[in-house]
Formats: sequence, C-alpha cells, structure tokens
Amino acid sequence: KRYIPAEDRYDKMVYRRCGKSGLKLPAVSLGLWHNFGEDTPHQTKRAICQTAFDLGITHFDLANNYGPPFGSAEEAFGQILKQDFAGYRDELIISSKAGYDMWAGPYGEWGSRKYLIASCDQSLKRMGLDYVDIFYSHRFDPETPLEETMMALDHIVRSGRALYIGISSYNSQRTREAVAILKDLGTPLLIHQPSYNILNRWVEHDGLKDTLAELGVGSIAFTPLAQGILTKKYLGGIPETSRAAQGKSLDPATITPSALESVRALDALAQKRGQTLAQMAIAWVLREGGITTALIGASKPEQVVDCAGAIGNLDFTAEELAEIDRIAQE
Ligand code: NDP
Repeated sequence: KRYIPAEDRYDKMVYRRCGKSGLKLPAVSLGLWHNFGEDTPHQTKRAICQTAFDLGITHFDLANNYGPPFGSAEEAFGQILKQDFAGYRDELIISSKAGYDMWAGPYGEWGSRKYLIASCDQSLKRMGLDYVDIFYSHRFDPETPLEETMMALDHIVRSGRALYIGISSYNSQRTREAVAILKDLGTPLLIHQPSYNILNRWVEHDGLKDTLAELGVGSIAFTPLAQGILTKKYLGGIPETSRAAQGKSLDPATITPSALESVRALDALAQKRGQTLAQMAIAWVLREGGITTALIGASKPEQVVDCAGAIGNLDFTAEELAEIDRIAQE
C-alpha cells in the first residue's frame, strides 16, 4: 500500500536549533539501533518509520553496525526510503556513524581515516544515498591521533558524503580538542551524541553538557528512556517481547526491586504532570533547552506516538526537578 505522509505533520512537532548552526532538529528523534535488523518483520519497521514521519519526526539515526546482522538496519532503511519516503529526501535528516566493530581486520573499527571513509561509503551504498546529513565518529579512539579522525570527518564533508559532522560519547576534554581541530579545518562540529537520562548523568558530572553550551555545539541524547526502564513496561515483571527479555543490550539484572521502586515514584510524578512516564523522561532530557533532541528507540509505532507526546509538557517546576533528583539518587 502506498504511504502518504500526514499533511499536518509539521504542526505536531517542535523543532529546536542544533547549537549555533543553521539546522533545526525535531525535539524527538528516532534511532534504528534495535528492531531494524533481520529479527524484525519489514512491515513493523515501515510502520515505525511512517508513524514517526507522520508526527513530524524528521530525524532518523543509524550506524554502520545496527542490525543484526551488522549493516541490515541501513539496508532496511534504504528500502523504506525507496518504498515510502521517495520524494521526501529533502525533508529528512539521516545520520550514520563509524567507530565500533564493523568488519574483520585492523581497518574495521575505531577512528582511522581508512576505516571512517570506507565505512561511510558502505553506509551510503546500503541506504542508497548520495550523502548522509550527519556523519559521526562513534567513539573516541585513544590510539589514533585525534587530528586524523577529525581530518577524515572534514574530508567526508568536503567530498560531499555528509553535510554535517558529529561525535559520540567523547568526554568534555576530548570534545574541546576536537572542536579546536575542526575549527582550524573549517568544518564546525554540529552535534554531540552522548547517553543521558534521569538515571545516567555522566554528561553533567563530566561537564560535557556545559561545555557543549559554551562551544555552541548541539546535542542529541541517546537512551533517554534508559532502554525502556523509564517507562511503565517493567513494573509488572519482564514482558516476553521486551528488550530485557531478548538477551539484547539491556541486562535484566539491572531491573532490581529498588530500581522499580524509583520507577514507580517517577511514574506517580509523571501522572501528576499529566504525562506518561516515557513522556516525562524525554521532557526531562530536553528541559531548559539544554539538549537539542531526545533520541528514542521503538519496537512498535504506538511507542513512537507516546514518546512524541512528550512535547505537550516540557516545563518543570523547581520542586519537580528536586523530586526527580531525590528519587534518582535512591
Ligand atoms: P530508549 O532509551 O528510548 O529505549 C528504547 C526502548 O524503550 C524501546 O525499544 C522500547 O523497548 C522502549 N520504549 C520506547 N518507547 C516506549 C514507550 N512509549 N512505552 C514503553 N516502552 C517504550 O533508547 P535506545 O536504547 O533504543 O536508543 C535510542 C537510539 O540511540 C538508538 O536507536 C541509536 O540510534 C542511539 N544510540 C546510540 C548509541 C551511541 O553509542 N551513539 C548507543 C545506543 C543508542 P522494547 O523493545 O522493550 O519495547
């Protein structure tokens, strides 16, 4: 069946400027790390992406090794681009990354120029694209000179493979160094992609969040829902279809009675705010404009609808923030 995007999609989302750039990103972005490999029916993937775009979610985040197997999420998204989003390329922000293990041998991971450029070419081919909007160094490589990794990103932009560049999970110090090198090269750093949620605050402790604000670099927070823990789904046990039950990246051992106690208290607060817990967790990441966009994942279209609804209430009182801090510390 032919997909026609909802006409009112841009009335349903808010768009936030990414640092000091010309680019705006939707407050909620969709990541294809899980649920886009060969373990998920193609129709489900299509439905998730269609629902996202219908809600004004213009940003889709990928990486070379999303699957399983590695590369299959990009292939699936390439098909969706052809089947459903043909004619809409200029309304989409598509990102990919290289940094983690992708292929065998010494050139298939980390941060060399050899790996980054080859991987970017492979990603473009799998998605059937001429360029990605954002290309990331997925992790800092302690053995490759940072200059080499940044020069590779600069080259990726100058050669037309990407419009903007980003870095992911670099600490505050490395981020400052990267920004300085990129400034000399003439390709500014658009965006940083760190993990961040109510239960994981390393970007505050490390100073990264303040550093990004100071440097005018935008930010996209991954795992804003702590992979699903910051939703109601685990309150009654571990559902069979959940990420924690499937031996994926979420270790069921982390879902302890005391963690659930905190989730229950957060859920009560979310209800008082007139939001679902997932919505409040996303709003918290976005509070006071500190993070440009929250990067969610979804196994069903309904989850995307719920998450996009976070924009209905992005403001917190000082009391609510203090309450969240108190619960998170328990
Ligand atoms: P989230 O914290 O948003 O977790 C997503 C999971 O939470 C879903 O798969 C689903 O779990 C559950 N969920 C989502 N919405 C709801 C809802 N409304 N109600 C109930 N449950 C819900 O983020 P992810 O861990 O998926 O990461 C998001 C993206 O971030 C990735 O796709 C990727 O693009 C990026 N990322 C980047 C990394 C990096 O190193 N740069 C590392 C990790 C992620 P279930 O499947 O159980 O239904």
